[in-house]
This record gives sequence, structure tokens and C-alpha cells, in this order.
Amino acid sequence: MADDCIFCNIANKTIHSDIIYEDDKLLVVRDVLPRAPVHLLVITKAHIPSVNELTDADAGLAGAMLLLARDQAKKQGISDKGYRLIFNVGKDGGQTVQHLHLHLKGGKPLSEF
Ligand code: AMP
Repeated sequence: MADDCIFCNIANKTIHSDIIYEDDKLLVVRDVLPRAPVHLLVITKAHIPSVNELTDADAGLAGAMLLLARDQAKKQGISDKGYRLIFNVGKDGGQTVQHLHLHLKGGKPLSEF
């Protein structure tokens, strides 16, 4: 855990966030600045800075993030119409929070990249 990391502080409940799912490894929160009608973040509890720092031992964790995003899409009622899953990585990827998270966006037709 990193003391100055906003997502670590959400995970340890130092900072309030709208948490809609939690287990021993992952959280799902509503993005504080939603850019789509549904905009959720799947966040690891462990402080992993980005996809770049994932190791082979994290394969289960990475898979769990994907499957949890799928389940949340279904719960949000957007599975059939479709949605977008995004990992921003590093500066050029537009990553602003240096703690692994997967964006789930949907609820309207999304613009092309
Ligand atoms: P990224 O640009 O991929 O690093 O995404 C970081 C996301 O975290 C952005 O969409 C922010 O709006 C979101 N965010 C930042 N702070 C919070 C917070 N306290 N609670 C929920 N979402 C946040």
C-alpha cells in the first residue's frame, strides 16, 4: 500500500468513495467524474502501479478484474447493448492514477477512439 495513493486510500476507507462491490482482492467504485452514463472502475486492493508491473503470478488477478467487469456490466443492464473496458497505461495512455484499475464505460453509444 502507498500512503499517498488515492485508490489505496479508497481501499482502506481513509477516503470515501461510492463502492458498489468489494471482495478480498478487488473493489468496484463509481468514477467520481463519469464520462458515460455507466462509468465504473475495477480497482485492485494491492498497490500495483499499472499493467506494466503485472507479473505472471498476477494472471488470476488480471482475469478476475475482467470477469468482475463483465458481471458488473450485466448488473448495470448494459451487457446486451455493449460497453468498453479500458486500461490506461502510463503517460501516453492517459493514466492519471498510478494504481491498477479497469474502466467500465457504457450506457450510450461511445465515440470511436
Ligand atoms: P486513469 O486516467 O485511467 O488513471 O483514470 C483514473 C480515474 O479515476 C479517472 O476517471 C478519475 O475520474 C477517477 N477518480 C479519481 N479520483 C477518484 C475518486 N476519489 N473516486 C472515484 N474515481 C476517481
